[in-house]
Amino acid sequence: MKLHLNIADKDSWLSNKIPCVISGPCSVESEEQVIQTAKEITKANQVSILRGGIWKPRTRPNSFEGVGADGLKWLKNAGIEVGLPVATEVANAQHVDECLKNNIDMLWIGARTTVNPFSVQEIADALKGVDIPVFVKNPITPDINLWVGALERINAAGINKLAAIHRGFSSFDKSSYRNTPMWEIPIELKLMCPKIPLFCDPSHITGDKELIPYIAQKAMDLDMEGLMIESHINPKEAKSDAKQQLTPTELELLLSKLVIREKHSESEDFINKLEQLRSVIDALDEELINKFSSRMAIIEKIGEYKYKNNVTILQLERWERILANRTFLAEKVGLSDDFIKKMLEIIHQESIRIQTKVMNK
Ligand code: PEP
Ligand code: MN
Repeated sequence: MKLHLNIADKDSWLSNKIPCVISGPCSVESEEQVIQTAKEITKANQVSILRGGIWKPRTRPNSFEGVGADGLKWLKNAGIEVGLPVATEVANAQHVDECLKNNIDMLWIGARTTVNPFSVQEIADALKGVDIPVFVKNPITPDINLWVGALERINAAGINKLAAIHRGFSSFDKSSYRNTPMWEIPIELKLMCPKIPLFCDPSHITGDKELIPYIAQKAMDLDMEGLMIESHINPKEAKSDAKQQLTPTELELLLSKLVIREKHSESEDFINKLEQLRSVIDALDEELINKFSSRMAIIEKIGEYKYKNNVTILQLERWERILANRTFLAEKVGLSDDFIKKMLEIIHQESIRIQTKVMNK
C-alpha cells in the first residue's frame, strides 16, 4: 500500500548534510545547561537542529517532569546563539500554542503520543493554518498503522514539512535494547512513502550510550536521512535519560566515524540494497535470540515443576506431538521439513540439558 501524503521536498526545509543531525539534551534543565550544550555540540559544525525536551511525562510519576514553558525561551535563545533552528516535543494543543508563542522552529510528536489518535488529532487541530516542520516518532507499540495514521492526521492539517523518527518499540521479550529497533517497520514505512525523510533515534532505541554508534551506523546503512541523538554538557548529572546521553566530545567522535555510503553509483546501489536485507536479517536474528532466551526461561520452570512432582524429563508423547505440529506449521510457510526437524532437535537437546541441570542442582 502506498501512502498519499503531500510532502514538501526535504531540501526546502532540512539541511542537506547527510546525516541531518538533531542533537541536544533529553530535557532542558536550565538556561546554562542548554546554552553550554548547544555551544559545545555545534563546534564541529555537524549538528543541524538543536533539540530539548520541555515537558517530560515519565513512565512513572514523581521523577523529573521537565521545566515546562519557561524552558522554551532558554532553548530558543540557545538556538539563536549558535545559529540553529530548535525543536521540542509537543503532546497536546497547549504545548503547541506555547511553542508557537515562543517561536520554536520545529516540533516533534513523541512515541507515547503517536500511540494515541485522540492526542494526535488534538495536535493536528492546533496546527491548522500553521507552517512549521513536524517530526513524528513511531508509536511505542510495533503498529505501523498508528505511525502512518499520525502522519496522515498531521498532513491533513496542512503540515507538509513532515518527517518520521524511528525510536524503537516496547517489547515484553528480554532485549539488549531499551526499545527494540524492529528495522522492518521503518523499512516498511519507507516503502509506503519513499518521499518521507526518515530519521533514527539511537538514544531511545539503545538506552545506553555504548550501543549508540552501532545503531547510528546501521541507520546510515539503511539509508536514513538523519539522526536524533541526545547530548548533554554533563550526562552524569542529567535529570532524565542519563545513561544514554553523549558528551559533546563523544557526539563529535561518533559523527566523524560514521561511514556514509554513496547512493547513486551502480555498484553502491547494489551494496546498499544488500545492506538493507542484512539489517533485516540482523534484526530477525536478534529477535530469534530473545525468543530463545524466553523459551529457555520457561524450560527451566518446567524442569523445576517436573522435579517437584517427581516426573521424568523426557515425555515422549509430548515430543512426538511437537515434532508433528511444528513440521506441519513449518511446511505451511514454506520451510523445509529437514531444516525444521534439525532445528527442533537442537532445541530439544538444549531443553533436556537445562532440565537435567535443574534436576541435579
Ligand atoms: C525524547 O525524545 O526525549 C523522548 C521522550 O522520546 P520518545 O518519545 O522516543 O520516548
Ligand atoms: Mn530522552
